[in-house]
Amino acid sequence: MSEVRVRFAPSPTGPLHIGGVRTALYNYLFARQHGGKMILRIEDTDSQRFVPGAEDYINEALAWLGIEIDEGVREGGPYGPYKQSERRDIYREHTRMLLDAGKAYIAFDTPAELEAARAATPNFQYDASTRMSMRNSLSLPADEVKRLLDEGAQYVVRFRIEPGRNVEVNDLIRGKVVIKSDILDDKVLYKSADDLPTYHLANIVDDHLMKVSHVIRGEEWLPSAPLHVLLYEAFGWADTMPAFVHLPLLLKPDGKGKLSKRDGDRLGFPVFPLEWHDPKSGDISSGYRESGYLPHAVVNFLALLGWNPGDDTEIMSMDELIQKFSLDHCSKAGAKFAFEKGKWFNHTYLQAMDDAELAMLFKPVLEANGVNTANFSDEYITRAVSLVKGRINFVKDLWDQARFFFTAPDSYAEKDVKKRWKPETPAQLTELAALLESLDDFAGAGTEPAVLAWIADKGYHLGNVMNAFRLTVVGECKGPHMFDITALLGRDETLARLRAGIERITPAE
Ligand code: GLU
Repeated sequence: MSEVRVRFAPSPTGPLHIGGVRTALYNYLFARQHGGKMILRIEDTDSQRFVPGAEDYINEALAWLGIEIDEGVREGGPYGPYKQSERRDIYREHTRMLLDAGKAYIAFDTPAELEAARAATPNFQYDASTRMSMRNSLSLPADEVKRLLDEGAQYVVRFRIEPGRNVEVNDLIRGKVVIKSDILDDKVLYKSADDLPTYHLANIVDDHLMKVSHVIRGEEWLPSAPLHVLLYEAFGWADTMPAFVHLPLLLKPDGKGKLSKRDGDRLGFPVFPLEWHDPKSGDISSGYRESGYLPHAVVNFLALLGWNPGDDTEIMSMDELIQKFSLDHCSKAGAKFAFEKGKWFNHTYLQAMDDAELAMLFKPVLEANGVNTANFSDEYITRAVSLVKGRINFVKDLWDQARFFFTAPDSYAEKDVKKRWKPETPAQLTELAALLESLDDFAGAGTEPAVLAWIADKGYHLGNVMNAFRLTVVGECKGPHMFDITALLGRDETLARLRAGIERITPAE
């Protein structure tokens, strides 16, 4: 294979959707695997849909996920500029080339005229069968065309598509896709109104000039592929046509159809990599980063939506993904966006993380919940984290699981009180307090056997005593092993909570 050069070519029309992130990822994996280049091209020729901040958002999201760019607006490179709005001369020149070769023509039809044509002919399409009845450089006399241009009339340039051709698109996932040129319309390639090309022209001119070897993009672009093939031919570039790869759609987690932002809102998961603040409406859409996902968990999750390594391996580092990735194992069928699986990936990556590192991530969460972390050593926070981390999917879940290590309960779960707080409980726990006070090594391994021996000796109900004890210390009947909790809290704190509980808890009638 000659040099692999791929491009991710987003349009800055809003936040990058998670499907776009997967496209970028697959391009990146493919490029790295083949020692090729990853290009980031900003396709901003649709001035109507341009959204400020979207380009920065794309850069930030890719950087967060560890998807590195070799050539791009910020990185530079031999085939720049990499932003289409800065390549107007190039597109003007290429539009001219097609006009001169008779492969394109100038059309003057106004929006009202197009509207009238659509109203008059059902399923109207601007193509070989209708173009001679419209106002363009093929149907009008040459002097009339010249007059209109001299007058500064607005026009578009359309691609002249001839019917009767079978257009072949060779897609490395889907195989050969053949479509008849008759169904294509004479697509607009350039608009004089803003002196900008449309997506179709700019996209393929740039793929050619940037020496793109593989066009890897979402399935929604498959319908434009035949047109792109014809454009490559019209320019005389057929022998350097890139290979096409149209990735399977991301589908709703439940039911049929394409994943949409509404599914995320409805089922409670982000569809954007980073939080997005819409500059117009002020609306905020949640992001994976802000929701507490680790970037690599997101990468790993997305990598497996449409591809598999050929076996059951699920947890793979970026390097492993680069090594194993293969278009042969990409599926044609859409991939259900199983967001619960995304949580599982995050859970798994958090478990593999060093406790001390996790503790550092937990600190801001503690502070946000009103805990002054200066009062706790890093070692203390780390031990608390190690005791509860098995139960978390996100760093923020640590608060729910470990809060009692940082603040004494201010209330006691009613249903647990009802179940475990018996008339004899206060007297029993008062005895327990005395026992705990008398132990030589409170945090040592001897505490548990001593307490259990005392319960057995007195013939108390083990479950009731231990759960009532837990209730005073934790505030509810949950959490890790009781004696791990008390060892970390220490004798003074444990006794203070035990005594406060005895005083404050009164069972409901
Ligand atoms: N600018 C298009 C987009 O927004 C690019 C599609 C393609 O990769 O050709 O996705």
